[in-house]
Amino acid sequence: MSEVRTRFAPSPTGFLHVGSARTALFNWAFARRYGGKLLLRIEDTDRDRSTPESERAVIEGLEWLGIDWDEGPLRQSAFADRHRAAVERLLASGSAYRCVCTAAQLEERRQATIAAGEKWTYDRRCRDLDLGADVGPHTVRLRLPKSGDLGWDDLVFGKSGQDASEIGDRIIQRSDGQPLYHLAVVVDDLAMGITHVIRGADHHPNTPLQIALYRALEAEPPEFAHVPLIVAASGKKLSKRRDPVSVQNFREQGYLAPALRNWLIRIGWSHGDQEVFSSDEICALFDLAAVNRSAARADGDKLLWLNQHYLKELPASSLAEMLAPFLSAEVGREVPVNAELTALAELQRERGKTLSEMARLSRWFVVEEVDYDAKAVAKHLKPTVEPALRELRDGLAKLDTWSRDAIEAVFLSVLSAQGDMKMGRLAQPVRVAVTGGTVSPGIFETLDVLGQSRTLARINRALELIDVG
Ligand code: GLU
Repeated sequence: MSEVRTRFAPSPTGFLHVGSARTALFNWAFARRYGGKLLLRIEDTDRDRSTPESERAVIEGLEWLGIDWDEGPLRQSAFADRHRAAVERLLASGSAYRCVCTAAQLEERRQATIAAGEKWTYDRRCRDLDLGADVGPHTVRLRLPKSGDLGWDDLVFGKSGQDASEIGDRIIQRSDGQPLYHLAVVVDDLAMGITHVIRGADHHPNTPLQIALYRALEAEPPEFAHVPLIVAASGKKLSKRRDPVSVQNFREQGYLAPALRNWLIRIGWSHGDQEVFSSDEICALFDLAAVNRSAARADGDKLLWLNQHYLKELPASSLAEMLAPFLSAEVGREVPVNAELTALAELQRERGKTLSEMARLSRWFVVEEVDYDAKAVAKHLKPTVEPALRELRDGLAKLDTWSRDAIEAVFLSVLSAQGDMKMGRLAQPVRVAVTGGTVSPGIFETLDVLGQSRTLARINRALELIDVG
């Protein structure tokens, strides 16, 4: 095989969709697997819909996922000359012709054809008129053979194709001189020496026409691999309203890049029953032959599982750094990354499945005033527990060294002084006192990371609640 050259060719008209990110990942993995190159080509020829913000979102999303490219970003709009030159060549060789049918005329004829119960393709009215450049406003159409197989052996879908008669002579250049997508993509893929076009299955129906274009340009088409689209776990199309659909959405929900990357590579591709793949393993093992043809379901539980797996592997200091912005958003102020936060991160790493869930569960740690859950207060902060709580506060206040073990020792001595009170009967009220609710890591660890002064202040506040209650 000559050097593999793949490309990711997003249209910068929105965010980086997870489906596109997966296409990028497959192109990247395939190029890396075969020691080839990945090109990033921004398809910005639709001037009205392409925006620099969207281009930035695409690039940031790729970088965040750890997908690197070897050439680019190249912008398709920079290649207008070569698109025009290709159209001229096709006109000169007779593989394309000028067409003066207006949109209104075409629409009228299309309606009539459909009303007659027939399928519309362009009726070739201008095909043999031999119109010259001086004909006035015109489009350019590709002259397709009237019949003949436009087939290819898709690396995922297998034998594919359509007969030329079903496609008709399609426009390749608009009347304002803009090339259409099909022309630009074929001309650029040729100019860039792309050997494998790996893209979403939504482009499968576009391929016959593109093959016709390669033939008209007297060039060999590349290999094509169409990747089944991602659907929701229910089998339905992903919906912006219901599902996270952009890489940014996943990032904001607190998924880690390696988890999302691992999840995406596994949607529609497998390697035995292996679930966890490092970046290096993806590059060493990925192959198109193992890509599945059927629509690929996005299993959110699998992603959570993977995310937790990668959360557990992170060093506490990195985890704290990643958690800080989520905590800041949770409480609406900047939460600094420091030793306390690192200790908290270590304690919470097995709890939340995402950074945002972890931040929600860690709210108690960063709030100035605890948000007391009324039910938890009513159930656990009762007058019967007050003496033990006071004694505990006094014991904790006397500690010179604030450590998990020292805290435990104070608990144990209070329990025995209270006539062998059960640990749970004291621990749970203390938990409510310092976190506001009934869920937190082990109570000694919780107090340890919270620190002595905040612990005492919160127990005092809880004692007031009991008094009032
Ligand atoms: N720009 C096209 C898209 O975003 C991709 C073109 C292609 O891969 O051939 O859908």
